[in-house]
Amino acid sequence: MTDVTVQTVVDALEAAYPPALAESWDQVGLICGDPDAKVTKVAFALDCTQEVAERAVAAGAQLLVVHHPLLLRGVHSVAANTPKGKVIHTLLAGGCALFAAHTNADSARPGVSDKLAELVGITPGRPIKPVLLDATDRWGVHVPPAAAADLKRALFSVGAGAIGDYRECAFSVEGTGEFTPVEGANPTDGAVGTHYTGDEIRIEFVARAGDRRRIVEKLREAHPYEEPAFDVVQMADTSDLDKATGLGRIGELPEPMTLREFTQQVANALPETAWGVRAAGDPDQIVQKVAVSSGSGDSFLADVAKLGVDVYVTSDLRHHPVDEHLRAGGPAVIDTAHWASEFPWTEQAESIVAPLSVDTEILHIRTDPWTISAHPE
Ligand SMILES: [Zn+2]
Repeated sequence: MTDVTVQTVVDALEAAYPPALAESWDQVGLICGDPDAKVTKVAFALDCTQEVAERAVAAGAQLLVVHHPLLLRGVHSVAANTPKGKVIHTLLAGGCALFAAHTNADSARPGVSDKLAELVGITPGRPIKPVLLDATDRWGVHVPPAAAADLKRALFSVGAGAIGDYRECAFSVEGTGEFTPVEGANPTDGAVGTHYTGDEIRIEFVARAGDRRRIVEKLREAHPYEEPAFDVVQMADTSDLDKATGLGRIGELPEPMTLREFTQQVANALPETAWGVRAAGDPDQIVQKVAVSSGSGDSFLADVAKLGVDVYVTSDLRHHPVDEHLRAGGPAVIDTAHWASEFPWTEQAESIVAPLSVDTEILHIRTDPWTISAHPE
């Protein structure tokens, strides 16, 4: 008898796809079901449609893992006579929990865009938009010597100066500060209209970038000066950018090819949809440096133009943004079905769950809403 529960599987998925990587507008994690319920089978799909929910229950799964959150926006009813409520009822009546890994799975390494990058023929490198979860700030604060100890104590109280298992870490150097207060100033030291020179200490420390706002507030509150002099820079490890988390990926094709050839390569690599894959740009232009972003990626058109790529593969593109992007000299654009760019991720998610000694099944249901592509006869 298995002792794997819904929570066991959720823990494994959230270790691979940390919820902290999700975009601020997103809702990820367990949508319905009991975390303590036993699990012998897990099913995978991109969207939880009614058909997918019914298939998951029929397959005997106690947990369905999807990419798109079912209830992204606030709801006040999950009654069975609403489409989403019916999905929830089908799952709960069938003893099946529902879990979504959305933008956290997009940003993670490996994530949804890594799978897409590999399929279209590039080794995934840096994200289009890196997200540095544990970024560190380096601070320098100038203060009169008599006020230095109190100021440090105040800053340490809001997270400044923590390094590993050490707390209240700082470095100080003595120097000379100078300034001329002008009309309207209310200086602690010196007088309006007179150039002032005095001893100051520069206190340096590090802090989590996430604590930046709290530290600025505390600094302004605790510093004796009306206008405290300070600087803060975020430390970036550019050598790790290729492994950084974030949305989208950049990589290079082993050999250059025409846009026409690459578009065909993308179409061959992705699951088939009714309207296939289309491209914008000169079909004969040579492409090698590629950006990909699974799902809707038009918000990155300006970013990929700056990154010097030849072609950008994404989904859900519209006339005006693409037209304006190309006229501004931006890279060629390949537009796939949203579902086709992301469905292959289900294999990646399955490989995370499979080692937990549960059965797994990818539900091969094409949840792309588009079903016909007609051309004049
Ligand atoms: Zn999507």
